Amino acid sequence: MYNHIMIRYGEIALKGKNQKDFLNRLIHNIKEQIKTDLDFNPTIEKEMGRLYLLLDGRAPEEFYDSLNHIFGITSYSPARKTGLELEDIKATALEELHGAMASMGLTNCKFRVTVKRAEKKFPITSPEMQQIIAAHMLKNTPGLKADLHNYDVDLLLEIRPEGTFIYTRSFEGLRGLPVGSSGRGVVLLSGGIDSPVAGWLAMKRGVTVEAVHFHSYPYTSEQAKEKVLELAKRMAKYSNRVIVHMVPFTKIQEEIAHYCHDNMRIPIMRRIMVRIAEEIARQRDCLAIFTGDNLGQVASQTMASLVATNEVCELPVYRPLIGFDKQEIVDISLKIDTYDISTQPYEDCCTTFVAKHPVTKPNLNVIKHSELKLAEKIDEMIEEAVRTVEV
Ligand code: ATP
Ligand code: MG
Repeated sequence: MYNHIMIRYGEIALKGKNQKDFLNRLIHNIKEQIKTDLDFNPTIEKEMGRLYLLLDGRAPEEFYDSLNHIFGITSYSPARKTGLELEDIKATALEELHGAMASMGLTNCKFRVTVKRAEKKFPITSPEMQQIIAAHMLKNTPGLKADLHNYDVDLLLEIRPEGTFIYTRSFEGLRGLPVGSSGRGVVLLSGGIDSPVAGWLAMKRGVTVEAVHFHSYPYTSEQAKEKVLELAKRMAKYSNRVIVHMVPFTKIQEEIAHYCHDNMRIPIMRRIMVRIAEEIARQRDCLAIFTGDNLGQVASQTMASLVATNEVCELPVYRPLIGFDKQEIVDISLKIDTYDISTQPYEDCCTTFVAKHPVTKPNLNVIKHSELKLAEKIDEMIEEAVRTVEV
């Protein structure tokens, strides 16, 4: 019977002195995710370069979905752990081989054995051990043939101080860094395709992400808000939870529409959004703002427009999608399961007030001139928006 899942982590093994923190964060995240998904508190053991999730009588498959959503795991394998006695190892290896053949529906099977001996005190060398195990498998399995290159089953044995781990299958993890290991950031979350992907990429590099959404209720619908909450929920599958800050933006947009020239609305709106986001970020100890912008996609995403947005903000504004093509973004959004929500039709606040001919190269002086009419009110409006955020 499987009693462990062996979890490998790659990048975080390289972190030298910080490794302990990274690893503890990874363990914490695995436990939290499993607790949320399965309402079960798993035991996770930490050994040189590996984590072991103890199955406690459960089937390994129950855990795959959780493990597939955790950054920092490079791969994992359901494994049978036994001791360092040769007879036990032989018997357990046979069980694993037969189990693999049964699950693949094979009666005739080509296999190979790979032994890794991390416990150098173990008296038999790896090549000798491979021969002993292979011979035992062949003797006890009709229809079995050894083939080093063209095999159906790779039977792996890792002989380690804490025991021998025997497995035949490995699944890819998400890689990246455990969420929380890089600090905190806010993501500007619209209802579109791009920003959830940008938030996900921030998470992938270890950022705990909080979402900031600007809504223009009643110009935009209640469903538009629900949509953003649902997107945040899908994103939370990768970080256990995502806090959403819902910023009332209607009054500000009305003021912009009233005072500012039509084709300057979008750049001005972006600048105010970023200022509000920066204020929220500071209150929440966040060190960066992430957006779903990618270069040249629309008028507000030209280099000149991005300069205008960045100018009002001291915190760095990161745009993880800057070099992506739309299809590449769509592919990720499908993979992370946000696409079907993002493509629901509810209006975004930008589309409600959008100009017919937005400028592609807004001149900073022109924007500032246009903003002058708002100047008296703008600080107060930002302060009020931040004060009335719904969390
Ligand atoms: P998305 O698919 O993320 O909506 P987009 O290609 O539609 O992006 P824009 O609408 O120009 O591009 O928005 C650019 C970025 O500005 C978004 O990715 C998002 O980070 C931010 N943004 C736009 N509208 C909002 C909003 N209502 N609330 C929060 N952030 C927003
Ligand atoms: Mg959009």
